[in-house]
Amino acid sequence: MGHLTTPPPPATAAKPGADGFKLEAELPMASEPAVPFLEIETLRAKEFLPAAREALTSLIKEKGDAKVIRPVFNWAGRNSLFPLHWGLACCAIEFAAGFGARWDAERFGVVPRSSPRQCDLLIVNGTVTWKVAHKLITLYEQMPEPKWVIAMGNCATGGGPFRTAYSVVPGVDKLVPVDVYIAGCPPRPEAMLDGILKLEELIRERKE
Ligand code: SF4
Repeated sequence: MGHLTTPPPPATAAKPGADGFKLEAELPMASEPAVPFLEIETLRAKEFLPAAREALTSLIKEKGDAKVIRPVFNWAGRNSLFPLHWGLACCAIEFAAGFGARWDAERFGVVPRSSPRQCDLLIVNGTVTWKVAHKLITLYEQMPEPKWVIAMGNCATGGGPFRTAYSVVPGVDKLVPVDVYIAGCPPRPEAMLDGILKLEELIRERKE
């Protein structure tokens, strides 16, 4: 069977720009990084940090502590949320998957910590029973301020499929204040990431 042959597309030869330069010559080539990696490293270590320190110091002198330090801390805090490394039920599997290679939550600066004293985010990822309630409150109280809570999944939000069970807390907001609710049974890791980004927006709006 014959097949249609389409003529090859015209070669994208570089056209001269207005100033006579070849357009492709103006763009950094994919095969050759615009700034070699080693130079970036050197810049970070030797020039970037002192330059940033100098810029911040002069800004603080000009505008005062309150107008510079607080926003910088807020910016750093909301972009490096440290959730407690724990799990309650099936939603915890989605929580764990969110930190695996496929969803890689750490690219948002979200790094789970195993001590509540190093955390500022409690992600309640499963069914909360009355038996575990006082432990959850203790963990929350051990976290330093400012701190936030995400109710991940229907169980944490309102008891989920077990809401009428005598042993289940019908929503973790009965125990601790909740900032963001994530729907689903279970919510997928993308939904967890979305909830974390929503929390970041909330922190930005509240200027905490
Ligand atoms: S919301 Fe669904 S998936 Fe999550 S802990 Fe409850 S029953 Fe399990």
